[in-house]
Amino acid sequence: MKPRTKLQKTVSELSNKLSEITNAHKRWATEHLFAHEAYKCKNELWCSDCGGAWIDTNNSELGAIILGDSTECPYCHHKLKVKVSRKKKSTDEVYMSILQVVGGFQVIRHVLCCKCAYKKTAYTTISSHIRYSFFETVQEWITADGKRTVMAKPMNMGGNGWIYSSPLSIKDEYGSNGYYHYGDIYAIYGYLYSKVELISELKKRGISRKFPDVNPSRLICSLLKGDNDAELCLKTGQMSMLKHMFKEGYYQLRYKPSFNICNRNHYIIKDASMWNDYVGLLLYFHKDVRNAHYVCPKDLKTEHDLLVNKKRDIETRQRREQERMEKIRHEKERKENIARFYKKMEKFFGLKITDGSITIRPLESVTQFYQEGKAMHHCVYTNEYYKLSDSLILSARIGEKRIETIEVSLKTFEIVQSRGTCNKNTEYHERIISLVKKNIGLIRKKMAS
Ligand SMILES: [Zn+2]
Repeated sequence: MKPRTKLQKTVSELSNKLSEITNAHKRWATEHLFAHEAYKCKNELWCSDCGGAWIDTNNSELGAIILGDSTECPYCHHKLKVKVSRKKKSTDEVYMSILQVVGGFQVIRHVLCCKCAYKKTAYTTISSHIRYSFFETVQEWITADGKRTVMAKPMNMGGNGWIYSSPLSIKDEYGSNGYYHYGDIYAIYGYLYSKVELISELKKRGISRKFPDVNPSRLICSLLKGDNDAELCLKTGQMSMLKHMFKEGYYQLRYKPSFNICNRNHYIIKDASMWNDYVGLLLYFHKDVRNAHYVCPKDLKTEHDLLVNKKRDIETRQRREQERMEKIRHEKERKENIARFYKKMEKFFGLKITDGSITIRPLESVTQFYQEGKAMHHCVYTNEYYKLSDSLILSARIGEKRIETIEVSLKTFEIVQSRGTCNKNTEYHERIISLVKKNIGLIRKKMAS
């Protein structure tokens, strides 16, 4: 994107004049950002810092190299951490973020640092066994009032990799091509270069030489835009709370009055997420969250766990009580159903329709509905047919064997359905239907009685 506004033009010009990443930066990165390791396979080791390989001669009782131990490379004399690995190549990528002051702007330069190490063997012919490359991918230019202008390399179509060969150019806040729907890809959280330059406004807002372990872009913009909570944390040394706020992404104190009590009592919160939980618990128990006695516990974990257990006990008790009430309600309902069923169906009890082999009788209790449903694998019980006030349910049997279950409407005196096992029709279906139809007068008579 071409610079359009006055601010963008200024940033673009300053950026073009800005010197490249220096050798000092690069040296610092190679020392501090990458793991210094020796890869051990059997008794051979090689160095991730120079590629040199050697045989571990300490393989005797005198003491072999213990894994996780340190050893020294006999070639480059770097202290190395020993790791078991068969790999012959090691690659790593990390970001270094450099804080600089340029033309009144607070600048954050993000540099992708890549390291590739190859093991030296008798056969390798490559000239260099360790290669470092550095790509400055993003510059954030932030004004004293927190307005950010981004210069960055373009990204490939997928939005997941930089196009290294292209120069930095002005980007709008949300990615010039609109690929990035969420997050802020330019606010990279890299390792902070040790020498930190800050504009005076940031110092006034509480950042000292030791930059806190928080995403620098977010902290800087937030402070310069006048975020009092972040400033308060910085000035009172509540670093755990600061970190927690920024990790959560709320950038605000959840329980500010309680937090202020802590500060008044010079109480440093060491575990912010646990403290937040704890204050939440205090509120649950209606404790005074403006009282130092509660909000500044000597042993946060113990007090926290105490309340967690107490709350859990209460909730268990509440759940048990709920279950008990539910059971009572259920039992009451069951009894009512039975009573209602008797009252409604009593007049049909003793009804018997038969053609000599098939006998049809009403189901005369809720228990019988249950047995019928279970034996026939259908839903006469599950769907609570015993509750229907306008249906008479009958069971057709030959001897003891259940054949079909029949529903007769007490409004129309028609057969609503007649079903066998698993809702299928049986070979007796037509016979059963006609038998009921023939005797529908009996049902009518019982109904009228
Ligand atoms: Zn070495």
